[in-house]
Formats: sequence, C-alpha cells, structure tokens
Amino acid sequence: MNTTESAMHHTSRLLVMLFALACQDTLAQELFDAHLHYTARDAARFPPTDIIRLLDEAGISHAAITSQPPALIERLVAAAPQRIVPLLGVYREPVDKQRWIYDSSLPARLAAQLESGHWHGIGELHLFAADRDSDVFRQVVSLAEQYRLPLLLHADPAVIDTVYKLAPELTVVWAHAGTFPYPDLVADYLGRYPALHIDLSMRDERLADGDGLRDDWYELMVVFPERVLVGVDTFSTARWESLPQHAERIRQWLQVLPAGVAGRIATGNAERLYLKKGPDTFFDQSDKTRLIKQ
Ligand SMILES: [Zn+2]
Repeated sequence: MNTTESAMHHTSRLLVMLFALACQDTLAQELFDAHLHYTARDAARFPPTDIIRLLDEAGISHAAITSQPPALIERLVAAAPQRIVPLLGVYREPVDKQRWIYDSSLPARLAAQLESGHWHGIGELHLFAADRDSDVFRQVVSLAEQYRLPLLLHADPAVIDTVYKLAPELTVVWAHAGTFPYPDLVADYLGRYPALHIDLSMRDERLADGDGLRDDWYELMVVFPERVLVGVDTFSTARWESLPQHAERIRQWLQVLPAGVAGRIATGNAERLYLKKGPDTFFDQSDKTRLIKQ
C-alpha cells in the first residue's frame, strides 16, 4: 500500500467509524416523553424506583407525567426531581373523565393547587365538540393562561377552535394529534394556531410505513418540526411494563427524519414547553419551509 492508498484506507475507515457512531447516536436518541399517566394502581405495581428504572431502560431522559390522584406525582418527583415533569391532573378518580365538565368546584380546586407553583402543565383533559362551551372548561383555560402553563387536551378539532377563541396564545398540546388524526387536518390546525402542538402518543400504527414513516406524516413533521412531541401514554399498568418497547417503536420512525427534525421532536420541543429551555421561537416562520423528502 503506497502513501496515498494508505491515506484513503485510513479515511474510509474513519468514515465507517463516524457512520457507526452516527448510527449509534440514532439508536440512542433520547426521548422526552410528553404523555404519561401514573395512577394508584400503577403505583401499587411500580413504586418510584421501578418507574425510574423503566425510564432508564426506555431511554427516556424526561417524563411529563400526570397522576391520579394528582398528589401521587409527588412521589415520583421526589425520586427524580430533574427528570419528572409534573402535570396537574384534573381527575381524582376514573369517573371524573366523564363528569369533570359538570364539576363546578373544579376551577377553585385547581386554582388552589396551582398556587404551589411546582406544576409544569395541566391535563390531560378529555373534551368533545358537544361540550366545548362548558363553563368549567372555560375557567380551566383561563387558569392555564393565567399561570402560563401548557394544557394537555384530548379533544375534537372544534374544541381547539374554542380554546383559541378564548386564549389565542395558550400553549395546547393536542394529545394523539387529536381525535381525527389526519395529517391534512392536523397541518391545517397547526397552520392556523401558532401555539398549538401535537403529541403522537398512540399513533405509531398510523404513522408507520414498514420501518419508516408514511409520506404524509413525514411531511407534516418537516413542515412543523417545532410543534410535534412524542409520548407513550401509559394509560394502563401494562403499558408501563412495556415502556421500553414502545419507546423503541418511536425511535424507529424518528430515525427516518432529518437529524435536526428528529432531535426537536424527540426532546427539544418538550424541553422548550416544559423546561423553558431553548429558543422561544415557535412563531418563527422558518419552520413552515416546505422540505422535500429525499
Ligand atoms: Zn393519555
């Protein structure tokens, strides 16, 4: 091997090594899970140390978690204050999911809980179009606005319109990309409301195209890279058990995206919303630049 050959050989080996590192990097993509639940039933099976171990195994650096009852989250926060991002749960028991909009004592209770200042968001709240004019909901929106906290909403599109009539600048995380998760519809809403974000929890099946991403979802993510979050949504104890597998599934489609886009979706956007880290620039028009899928 002459000097040039040897140099080229060296260069190609270096490239292989760099590529391997880059791949490892993709595989090790950390996640900020923006949609997790922790109930008394989960706590009986998985005390805080087990939850932290599951987050480690799943490669989840930060976890936005809402608990039922709301105070339960404090145990997780105590175990890992740097990683657990507490969302103020509105439901004290499962039946509240259906009846919270009729609970006129709810706004005062929330207001009292919010005074502690240690909440990073409010939710998850379930609300459908027919109930969008609920007075209780209107008051919850106004509390979120007053405390400048993101609201995690599992809701119909009409509810999103109502929120933004009431509070045009409120950060809303639209759980599961809404109840009608069609990329065109979602893109239309993201275009209309600059403070609206979506989480893609429970949507892996819809997004997937083999190991990759469907073109329409890919396009949505590159057009709105600052407005998309990921989450596993541990609505049952079984989902906590399989947290690492669900996280792996998310990584599978993330790695198809340009690295910058994947990074924002994996961690950057949730850090900005929940940890107030990074540029406060989701009004930046540059994220609307249409990118062509390679
Ligand atoms: Zn949920």
